[in-house]
Amino acid sequence: MAKSEDGTVGRRKFLKGAAATAAAFVGHDEVAKAQQHSIDDHDHQQVPSDISLRVRALESVLVEKQMVDPAELDDVVDAYENRIGPRNGARVVAHAWVDPAYKARLLADATQAIAEFGYGGAQGEHMVVVENTPTVHNLVVCTLCSCYPWPTLGLPPVWYKSAPYRSRAVIDSRGVLREFGLEIPDDVEVRVWDSTAEIRYLVLPERPAGTEHMTEAELVEIVTRDSMIGVTKIVSPQPGGRA
Ligand code: FE
Repeated sequence: MAKSEDGTVGRRKFLKGAAATAAAFVGHDEVAKAQQHSIDDHDHQQVPSDISLRVRALESVLVEKQMVDPAELDDVVDAYENRIGPRNGARVVAHAWVDPAYKARLLADATQAIAEFGYGGAQGEHMVVVENTPTVHNLVVCTLCSCYPWPTLGLPPVWYKSAPYRSRAVIDSRGVLREFGLEIPDDVEVRVWDSTAEIRYLVLPERPAGTEHMTEAELVEIVTRDSMIGVTKIVSPQPGGRA
């Protein structure tokens, strides 16, 4: 298992090594091989239902053996869940709503426009933003695995990586949206965008009516992760309250 000089390992190496270490710990070579195969396949395999418990157990063993630093793991998770999470995308969306010139740049070259906020890098090298309108609703999926714009949305939700969503988003997109509580009228076109390792999509949701008085900072607060994937819309905020 790779280990850096300060005694810690990266999360990717941690996950790879953790699986092999645990399997070896209990003497199951076949488990080790299967787990390694799954990870090397770029997470194309279906995630086991007990994955959370398994990771927790592995993490405990590795921390006890001083092979990983739990503070570093917490920092990585916190970074993608909070600091690099969907708040970044929300800032991009809110700015596009209030600045037509920025919106034009965003739709023309999303990677460059998003970089104006300092967001970019891994899993966000080639971004495309698609705009929802009264006549077009956009939905993002990765049919192959779980490609997702990490710098603007953070880590993908579990359902996004699930086989049912990945297949049904394409063959029954309106049905999937209905299950998210979103009924798309027949006269509105639904466009499904298949993310890949090369191109990651972000939906620019419609700015809801009744938000004309809101500041950009307030608008950031009503933009949801799911609206930027396209499985929900942003509802109009109630007077004096949140959306
Ligand atoms: Fe993928």
